[in-house]
Amino acid sequence: MNKIPAVFFDRDGVLNYDDEGYVYDPNHYTIYPEIPEIIKTLAEAGYILIVITNQAGIARGIYTREHMHSCHSILQQKTNNAFSHIYYSPYHPEVSESLSRKPGSLLFEKAIAKYNVDVENSWMVGDRDRDLIPAKKLGMKTIGVRRNEDFNYADHVITKLEDVIKLAIDNS
Ligand SMILES: [Mg+2]
Repeated sequence: MNKIPAVFFDRDGVLNYDDEGYVYDPNHYTIYPEIPEIIKTLAEAGYILIVITNQAGIARGIYTREHMHSCHSILQQKTNNAFSHIYYSPYHPEVSESLSRKPGSLLFEKAIAKYNVDVENSWMVGDRDRDLIPAKKLGMKTIGVRRNEDFNYADHVITKLEDVIKLAIDNS
């Protein structure tokens, strides 16, 4: 079976606006306006699209999985169900350690196995180094979206989300 290239995304601050604290209220869950077109373009280019998100507010009792799933329904609706899978880690080190929480790589490894991902030709897009560390360790190319953090693990740093297209399609 042929391996398939993927673009992996962090969620908050990459696909939707990030707040102080946690994003979980579906009434305040807002996708960046340029995301639907970017996602459509990547899907048409043959990438499978996967989200990997830390959702520690669940372990900390700040919100429930139902809140999170409501937000994910909005994300899928706005992007024409483009994401093959939305992996989340509900854990927080104050409550329970987990290898699934980024910078741990467990969720990436699950996705790679399940979707037969062509790792070398795949990308991870994140707004923090901890999103990029596991991807780099596994051999993917990494894109840092500059919000508030500097990056040590980004192969490319972008300020405009549209630049994901330039990197993943125009240069590939
Ligand atoms: Mg983020």
